[in-house]
Order: sequence, then C-alpha cells, then structure tokens
Amino acid sequence: MALTGLDIFKLLPKKNCNECGVPTCLAFAMALAAGKASLEACPYVSDEAKEALGAAAAPPIRLVKLGAPGDDHEVEIGDEHVLFRHDKTFYHPTAVAVEVSDALSDGDVEARMGKINDLVFERVGLRYTIDLVAVRNASGDPVRFAAVAGKVAALTKFALMLVSEKAEALKAALEVVGARRPVLAWAAAENHEAVTALAKEKGCPLIVRGKDLDATAELAETVAKSGHKDIILDTGAGETGRVLADLVHIRRLAIKKKFRPFGYPTVAFTSEEDPQAEMMQAAVYVAKYASMVVIKAVERPQVLPLLTWRQNVYTDPQKPIQVESKINTVGEPDRKSPVYVTTNFSLTYYTVEGEVAASKIPAYIIPVDTDGTSVLTAWAAGKFSGESIAETMKKLDIEKLVDHKEVVIPGYVSVLSGKLGEASGWKVVVGPREAAGIPSFAKERYGR
Ligand code: SF4
Repeated sequence: MALTGLDIFKLLPKKNCNECGVPTCLAFAMALAAGKASLEACPYVSDEAKEALGAAAAPPIRLVKLGAPGDDHEVEIGDEHVLFRHDKTFYHPTAVAVEVSDALSDGDVEARMGKINDLVFERVGLRYTIDLVAVRNASGDPVRFAAVAGKVAALTKFALMLVSEKAEALKAALEVVGARRPVLAWAAAENHEAVTALAKEKGCPLIVRGKDLDATAELAETVAKSGHKDIILDTGAGETGRVLADLVHIRRLAIKKKFRPFGYPTVAFTSEEDPQAEMMQAAVYVAKYASMVVIKAVERPQVLPLLTWRQNVYTDPQKPIQVESKINTVGEPDRKSPVYVTTNFSLTYYTVEGEVAASKIPAYIIPVDTDGTSVLTAWAAGKFSGESIAETMKKLDIEKLVDHKEVVIPGYVSVLSGKLGEASGWKVVVGPREAAGIPSFAKERYGR
C-alpha cells in the first residue's frame, strides 16, 4: 500500500530548512508521495526512515537496464513518472527488438542479421536505431536455439533477448551468450521457478508473462519476493486492443496508485504478419505505454516510420532539438561561396541544408542559437535579430573564410535586413521565404 503524504511527513526530520528545494518538510512529503521528488534531496533523513520510506521513495516504475553492463549498446527502460508527456516528461523511449527465428537456416539467419544491423538511421542530426535482437526458439530444440543465439551474438552488438517457453532452451542458450546479459522471456506460471533461477544466476532481466492482468501481477510479486527485481511485464494478450488496454491499466496503476506489482517496465509482442499492419500495431504500443516492443519487420522503409514515431513521442517538447551554432559547410566551399544564416532548430537547419545541397553550389550555413526555435518564432521572440545574427557571425569569424561580405537571410525575416546590415557591415540579401526556393535562388545569384 502506498504511503500518504502525511505518513511520509511523520518520518521526515521536520527541520523545514529548504535544502531539498521546497520550503517545508510537509511540502516535500507531498511531493514525494506524488512521485515528484526524490528522497535523496533531503540530506537529513535517517537510515531507519529511509528504510521505512523505501517504497514511497522508489520510482513508480523501476529502471531496468538491458544488455551487457557498460556496453555502448546497453539500453534503459522504465523509470517513468507520468502518464502524459506534458505532465513532466518521458525519460526512456520504447526499446525496439527485432526477432530472429531459430527455425531459419544458417544462411537466412545471416541474411536477416545483415538487415537488422542496418536498421540505423540518421535524421535531423539524430541517430535512430533499433535496440535489441530477440532470438525466438521457434524450432523447440534447445541445441538449435543455443547455436542460433551464439551466431546472432557473434553477428551483432545490439543487446539480446532470448524467447522460449522452455527453461532448458533458455539454459542452453545462456551457456553460450550469458555474458551478454540477455533479456529472458518468459517466466510463466508453469516454469517461473526454473526461469527465475536462471535469470538470477546470470543477472538477466526477466519477462514475466501471466495469462491476464491479475495473473501477471501475482507472478511479478512472486518473482520479486524471490529476490529478482529486474522484471518486465507481459500480460500475454495478442489482440491490439487488449494489449493496449493492459498497457494502459498497468501504467495507470503504477503511476496513480503506486501498485507495486505493476511498478516495472512492460513489453508488447506484435502479432500482425503484414509488415505495414505490424508497424501500425507497434506504433500503438509505442504511444501507450510499452517500454519495449518486439517486431518481425526488418526492411528499412518499414522500420523507419516506427522509429520516427518513437522519436516524436519521446521528444521533450520543452527542449526543442537543436544543432550546434557553428559554421557548417555544404560541399567544398571556397572564398567566393555564399553564406546563409538560419536558426539552430534542427528541423529548420536540416531543411535548409538539404536545399543548399540540392542547389549544388557549395556554401557556408550559420545556424544562429535561438534556443532551438524556428525562424519566425525566434524572430517574434527577439532571438533572431539583426544584432544576434551579427554577433554570431562575428563570434564565428566567418570573415576569415570568404573574400566577400554578403549574407543571405530567410525571406520571412526580410525586415531584419537594415539592422543586420548596420550591425555587421555586411550586405544583406533576402533569400526565398521557403527553403524549397533555395536551389533556384542560388543558381540565379551564385551560379558560376
Ligand atoms: S531538506 Fe529535509 S529537513 Fe529540510 S525541509 Fe527538506 S525535507 Fe525537511
């Protein structure tokens, strides 16, 4: 049972010293009960109180790390505190695992792994990638499962998952890839003791699968009581609506009621066979509230939309994606090449960069630091002004790179021309309003 704010208050030092960032111990207790503060913020809590407050102080959803500790490909899931992104933020994007069946031939496993390793994308300066490879024991044969797990481990650096209903198959595969600390699936009613023992021995995160919500909660409690806490919940539902309902119930109960058996990350396995339908199903789970989703699609055009969607859901709207404010080159510009300025909002910058590249006229682009806002927003907020652009040009010393003094500004802020000209001493050329107009603009003005 979750502690109330008053229960917590009784255990606090009552110094009202403000060192925790709130004015009183009572306010801190209320924040702690609501999951909006961490017990570590108070330096005066006694060890006895810490123990008593353990459950209240723990995050509503446990942080679980996947993959070999310290590895570049280690992934974190869970540790979420809110139902809705605008309440605070989401911390850990849904991990995406791609399946490989051990029923495939060795050649097919290799071909599939080639495609899986290629599921890494660069977009607006960000790297999008899948996170795990899930080896499924479709053959039912522990020896084959272990062999394919070993082959997959040798072919990829992504974190691993082992999926089998048989404890002996998981055991056989763990003997080969145990050092990679794979996620184990599943501990179910009939095998949980043996599979939990394996997970404990190798320190592996464990997917607990009940036949419904109640059974999943019960099983999670049993596994946690045995001393294994790196649990991931799976209610075993297959139909999209049912899985969605279960994921929402689990998140609501964990966050709103601090129901400890559901205080773990979740996983959803797709069931659709058609790749397009499968990606739509996975997108639903990414939106609400799978911590991890296991898919079968491996083609880049199928997976990119899912990863883009994940990026959208998990981007903090209070922190726009930004690029560094520095002189960027497109092609190999020389001392006569044009100089463009824009803002450092990633989407704006990369749109401009793409169109400058399409013009095939090498150029310099200077993204001015506008806290990641777009051109008109930054202009309206006074962050993209004649003075700030001139200051950035001076700071970055663009004069050293070119023999001319001509700078191109976005057409939407032509009003800045006078101020920028005065502040910089440069001739200001008003470029097109939309980035799409840059190629024809550049060819006309700078084509040689
Ligand atoms: S730091 Fe601790 S003692 Fe001080 S006000 Fe906060 S809760 Fe109270």
